[in-house]
Amino acid sequence: MEKELIEKLYLTANLTDKELGRLIENRTNEDFALLSERARQRCNEEYGNKVYMRGLIEFSSYCKNDCLYCGLRRSNKNAQRYRLSAEEIISCCETGYKLGFRTFVLQGGEDAFYSDDLFCEIIRSVKKKFPDAAVTLSLGERSHNSFKRLFEAGADRYLLRHETADSEHYGRLHPKELSLENRMSCLKSLKEIGYQTGCGFMVGSPYQTTDCIVKDLRFIKDFQPHMVGIGPFIPHKDTPFGEEKAGTLELTLFLLSIIRLLLPKVLLPATTALGTISPTGREQGIKAGANVVMPNLSPVGVRKKYAIYDNKICTGEEAAECLECLGRRVKTAGGELVVDRGDSKIPIK
Ligand code: SAM
Repeated sequence: MEKELIEKLYLTANLTDKELGRLIENRTNEDFALLSERARQRCNEEYGNKVYMRGLIEFSSYCKNDCLYCGLRRSNKNAQRYRLSAEEIISCCETGYKLGFRTFVLQGGEDAFYSDDLFCEIIRSVKKKFPDAAVTLSLGERSHNSFKRLFEAGADRYLLRHETADSEHYGRLHPKELSLENRMSCLKSLKEIGYQTGCGFMVGSPYQTTDCIVKDLRFIKDFQPHMVGIGPFIPHKDTPFGEEKAGTLELTLFLLSIIRLLLPKVLLPATTALGTISPTGREQGIKAGANVVMPNLSPVGVRKKYAIYDNKICTGEEAAECLECLGRRVKTAGGELVVDRGDSKIPIK
């Protein structure tokens, strides 16, 4: 058992690359029991048992990119495409606000229909109507100037998973027009501009090795993001990775705990993908140190169409039902869903 390494990680919030690799490669159930106990302890010290909720509005399933893992990729001719109007997006926020959401996450494929002007208008309207709510964007890669304009319009946070910190691995998951260099430069811009910034990666994506994961963890530790989104890779049948194996619950939970201990103040979601590979995935995520959940606030009629992977959960329920069920789940994991913006405790710049 790697008890010493786990205690060192708990006490110093760091390990060497070699030690991280060893902890991951040699992991046992016993290790996970201690690691997740320490991670939960750390999370409670920083945030108590509060679990912050973010209303996810998946505004467009159009995407100009062709990422090999994603069901929204432009080459997927079977994908059902939709886009929400500004009014529809604001109406989702209205529903969410009444339910207690104080963060709205606008996420979508990279869809040129939404110009900077249109996004700025949407952000301004949401902030005007709900001044005590935060707006998080997850729009993919844009120019520094575009990120700046959206920030100046009132956006508070930006989620852009780095996907993998190994450039060769990045090249195997993406078409050649996308590069790790540009992804990283976007992340740098976001932080410089003043966004609460989130990076992250898929666990168990094709060709991922322990070495790749160690690079991901080192990048996360060095970059000091405010949020980290990790979830298992899940194949989508109409992509080149349709026959690949999904990432495991067990490794995802193990990594959630490591990330909590590396960055004690990080906002760490128990993702929908985790709930998709296991019926109790999100509860287990919270027990392992996660403190954010992101239920779907998109109109019920479009939820199935935002199919980034197969068998995604919560595509049929109304927002209120979804939230009630989630509240119960969070409680069974010892957490408490709260009405709060849930800002990061890490300084902005
Ligand atoms: N277009 C934006 C971007 O690229 O950041 C946001 C939308 S994108 C669909 C959001 C995230 O979904 C990606 O960062 C990726 O990690 C995740 N994702 C895509 N396909 C997935 C799959 N098959 N399994 C698990 N996660 C996936």
